[in-house]
Amino acid sequence: MANKKTPKAHDAANPYESMLQRFDHAAKLVGLSEDTYAILKTPIKQIVVSLPVQMDNGKTEVFEGYRIIHSKLLGPSKGGIRYSPQVDRNDVKALAAWMTFKCAIADIPFGGAKGGITCDPAIMSIGERERLTRAYAAAMADVFGVDKDIPAPDLATGPMEMAWILDTLSKIKGDYLPGVITGKPLNLGGSLGRVEATGRGVMMATIEAMKKLNMDPSKATAAVQGFGNVGSITAKHFQKQGLKVVAISDAFFAFYNENGIDINAAIQFRDTNKGRLNGFTGGTKITNEELLTLNVDVLAPCALENQITEKNAHQIRAKLIAEGANGPTHANADNILNEKGIVVIPDVLANGGGVTVSYFEWVQNRTGYYWTEEDVNSKAEISMKNAFENVWQVSKKHNVSLRIAAYVVALNKLSKAIEFRGHF
Ligand code: NAD
Repeated sequence: MANKKTPKAHDAANPYESMLQRFDHAAKLVGLSEDTYAILKTPIKQIVVSLPVQMDNGKTEVFEGYRIIHSKLLGPSKGGIRYSPQVDRNDVKALAAWMTFKCAIADIPFGGAKGGITCDPAIMSIGERERLTRAYAAAMADVFGVDKDIPAPDLATGPMEMAWILDTLSKIKGDYLPGVITGKPLNLGGSLGRVEATGRGVMMATIEAMKKLNMDPSKATAAVQGFGNVGSITAKHFQKQGLKVVAISDAFFAFYNENGIDINAAIQFRDTNKGRLNGFTGGTKITNEELLTLNVDVLAPCALENQITEKNAHQIRAKLIAEGANGPTHANADNILNEKGIVVIPDVLANGGGVTVSYFEWVQNRTGYYWTEEDVNSKAEISMKNAFENVWQVSKKHNVSLRIAAYVVALNKLSKAIEFRGHF
């Protein structure tokens, strides 16, 4: 026992420590052994690279890039790459662990990883972003692999970046490797349904929860924070299901309309306005803080981590929170929301539709046989409904929140894998 440290109280400001607070709670319920706890708590590999990139002004800037692999117990590691000035190692560590849990909950044969580059994509030209992306892919050429570690899009990255990574890796390896990355453009082996998969999944999880809570979608209102891939598609599908989406926001502006915002019009406006909602006339301006505390039935935070904290959790009035983003609720807010009777569909369950369809994309790349959009969507729906039901039943069995139940589902699966596989 000489090398074993006693688990200590967690530093709540650090996202990885905040993740561990939930992990610890679930570990006790599962009765995780000290050894298994220690293995699952620690990422298996952490890579930090420096990336020199020639900028348009002729000067060279050196960026820091990360890839943190949390686990490969259930299969090759899987997780997105984000570009943001806020990216740091603890962030990426937490996001990598969530990917492990998310894949286990969605019942797909992947481990978890996450990547990121500390940069501000908003002030970079396309050429600078391409050179940075290719430098990152080259630096990670030995890490990424069809059966090793498979990246995907995340904050501020999309099909374009995935295509650059695919191209760089295929050239370095001398092989065409579509299965090495997901979220690709369709004509490079992307899957139909992938772009909408995360938002559709958030909607499906929300509808499943509403059934359990006897909430009628056609009488419900919703507020959606973040209007990128996840937020806008979630809002669109909420509206299709009959929910009235009364508020939306991006990083700069939030809009409210008590009669409901026309989401298709907002998407069209954003797409012709450099990706921003600035100047949108389909609602009155409110602040992002006000959006979170509106008197709505459903709140879907689909932007960043730590949006709901102990500071604003008391003011939240939604009955149901669907976490489209990763880590939007700080661990210190969990108890406050629970005490208020607010049901939270946790990120590791609610946004699992994205990685599920990424898995379908990888399967299609490996077999070379491509599915119809109906096929993709119906398989994703079955998967999301099963995952939701499983987590719901565990939450009832242990009388815990859906978040702790989701961690219990994941830890059960992962600890069994450790038992079977052993280690040396
Ligand atoms: P995105 O870059 O497409 O969109 C992010 C949106 O959030 C933008 O509208 C941006 O303006 C907005 N935003 C940024 N800061 C904000 C702030 N302070 N307040 C309000 N809005 C703000 O990113 P995305 O792919 O939609 O990812 C959003 C979240 O969903 C992230 O947490 C990501 O990890 C998570 N996620 C994404 C996927 C996916 O498939 N893209 C899958 C699972 C989880």
